[in-house]
Amino acid sequence: MTAARRLLALAVLCALLAGCAPQTKQVERTVFAMDTVLTLTVCGTDRSACQTAADRAVTELSAIDKALSATGEDSFVWALNHANGAWVQPPETWVDALLADALTLCAETGGALDLTAYPAVQAWGFTSGEYRVPDRTELEQLASRIDYRAVERSERQGVRLPEGMELDFGAVAKGYAGDALAAWLRETPGVTSALLNLGQSSIQTIGERPGGGPWRIAIQDPSGEGTLGVLTASDCAVGTSGGYQRYFESDGQTYWHILDPETAAPARSGLASVTVVSPSGLTSDGLSTALFVMGREDAVAWWRERQDFDVLLVEEDGSISLTPGLAESFTPSDPGREVNVLS
Ligand code: ADP
Ligand code: MG
Repeated sequence: MTAARRLLALAVLCALLAGCAPQTKQVERTVFAMDTVLTLTVCGTDRSACQTAADRAVTELSAIDKALSATGEDSFVWALNHANGAWVQPPETWVDALLADALTLCAETGGALDLTAYPAVQAWGFTSGEYRVPDRTELEQLASRIDYRAVERSERQGVRLPEGMELDFGAVAKGYAGDALAAWLRETPGVTSALLNLGQSSIQTIGERPGGGPWRIAIQDPSGEGTLGVLTASDCAVGTSGGYQRYFESDGQTYWHILDPETAAPARSGLASVTVVSPSGLTSDGLSTALFVMGREDAVAWWRERQDFDVLLVEEDGSISLTPGLAESFTPSDPGREVNVLS
């Protein structure tokens, strides 16, 4: 190689290296949707691409919320819940696809996840904030009308619920929204990574954090205000369900928003929180709710059977168990705290 050629090669290499490590731009958006505050962080090589993507993400989140909101009177879910047994057409194909996927998860979890728990959610006051404790007769009646298998889907006619039944997507909507945004964010030129914090309980990570390395996600301690520990994650969804997230107290008892479809009452399974890590946001969100209902033993058995996700379980006595896939990625805030690795 001549000296001139060597110089040229060196110049090209320098240009390539510079091109590989340009300064990362970061754009943040905060939006109120799905009854909570959502924070989106979009990172990439091109600020204007990140801004455009972040704006599109906000618009899409609002559209998802508008279709799935159980309380918004112009939503598909509202129309379905007030159709008195008539067929209702989903406004778009993704709504029907989501319903199909969510109903599959209801079936796979043996009904621990059940979208039709909604009348019970309302009866306890979790939608209005006017909390009350329904009596035993009312709970029996509510429980007798919870059954995801009664939801009918027809390609031609749409969706139908038996009269007196209602459903909501509260347990899966944020996870689904993360999947929907991640799908195109991953393909967007100029965007290299993103962290979608969909109300703390549902987080979607796209790529790695700027500067390299996985994103660091704080897991809340279900027994207090602090953090239980930090979970590292990249290109996956992290969903947490716990009794501490939405609850009220009455006569010294705490009642939370995750209900056992069998009793229509708050699920008391001995678990304080469940965090599920999965490539799918829908799975991590829906499963965290379902495994919380199942309790430790059934949740662990379910994981052993499936093995296609990871889970971190916190029991009411504070003990922590996690699957081997999280052994390296979870660091407890208190280094002395015992962490049991499941097998
Ligand atoms: P969060 O919304 O706080 O992230 P979850 O994902 O666990 O919590 O979803 C809880 C919501 O799902 C409740 O507010 C209620 O609307 C609904 N829900 C409660 N229990 C169940 C259940 N067993 N199956 C399906 N949905 C449920
Ligand atoms: Mg959930």
